[in-house]
Amino acid sequence: MHLPAFQYKRPGTLREALELLSLSRGPVFPLAGGTDLVVQLRKKSVAQESLLVDLGNLTELRGVQLDSNGLQIGALTTHAQLAAAPLIQTEAPLLAWACARVGTPQTRARGTLGGNVVHASPAADTIPPLLVHEAILVICSPQAKRRSALDRFLLGPYRTTKRTDELLVAFSLPKLTNFRYGYQRLIRRQAVGIARIIVAVALRFEGRTICEARLACGAVTPVACRLAGVEEWLRGKEATPSLFQEAGERAGREAIARSGPRWSTPYKQPVLASLVRRALQQAGGF
Ligand SMILES: Cc1cc2nc3c(=O)[nH]c(=O)nc-3n(C[C@H](O)[C@H](O)[C@H](O)COP(=O)(O)OP(=O)(O)OC[C@H]3O[C@@H](n4cnc5c(N)ncnc54)[C@H](O)[C@@H]3O)c2cc1C
Repeated sequence: MHLPAFQYKRPGTLREALELLSLSRGPVFPLAGGTDLVVQLRKKSVAQESLLVDLGNLTELRGVQLDSNGLQIGALTTHAQLAAAPLIQTEAPLLAWACARVGTPQTRARGTLGGNVVHASPAADTIPPLLVHEAILVICSPQAKRRSALDRFLLGPYRTTKRTDELLVAFSLPKLTNFRYGYQRLIRRQAVGIARIIVAVALRFEGRTICEARLACGAVTPVACRLAGVEEWLRGKEATPSLFQEAGERAGREAIARSGPRWSTPYKQPVLASLVRRALQQAGGF
């Protein structure tokens, strides 16, 4: 199948890219790795003659740094780079695990963190870990730079607050100290596949008592989200297998209450409960 005709520009700087986005009269899209956008082009869900603004030359939007505010991640950093980055493995292991599971080696080599989040699929692998970290997005337009919490940026399936003249330039992840992590991902087969359920957990303990719990799920609600009811219920309790079992069941009920009952509910609710229990056990070390 042929791609429909499109216009193409490859600016050399962030300023030039922002100008192209704001001055374009027709439909205009930033092009990062293209692993979602080219599929949209092929499906013709992107208008004929759209302008694609290739971000490939904007090297300042790539890379990972740790500073006093936490991890700073350029929006064009690829899944492969993030999965392999020692800083991500130590400071944000949930994100490293998630990036290592995106698609195929080819997808991970081209696909970027920024593209994954802006595409805003309910099953995007990186969103639950970023929600656990309470990631802040740095977004630029020709006139201003704004910062947005990720949960406010996501409006619904494939919808965000990003305007056409804006670029997502970076993610800021506040440092999490003394947390332990658990991550579970269900797909339909043991190969490349879009996640059916994602669970990302971070727990902070004092002895066996849980001081803070962060629990995010993806692909079960229209927008990936934190399960605040379960987080609150876990706080101050001693970690035991039966506590985690009950937390899983509560998570299943809380997620389904958010999404509303659907044809998949009889399957997803108990499976989510199991995956949450497993992720909590992984974080709890038993
Ligand atoms: C075979 C295959 C397997 C896949 N498997 C998975 C999977 O397992 N898990 C998963 O989560 N995803 C998967 N994907 C989807 C995709 O690879 C990811 O969502 C990827 O991270 C998208 O990034 P990209 O750089 O390719 O984005 P692009 O396709 O370039 O862009 C995606 C969207 O974001 C916009 N955009 C990109 N960067 C910016 C920016 N910096 N600022 C503003 N807007 C921007 C684009 O205009 C476009 O609308 C798969 C895709 C394929 C083709």
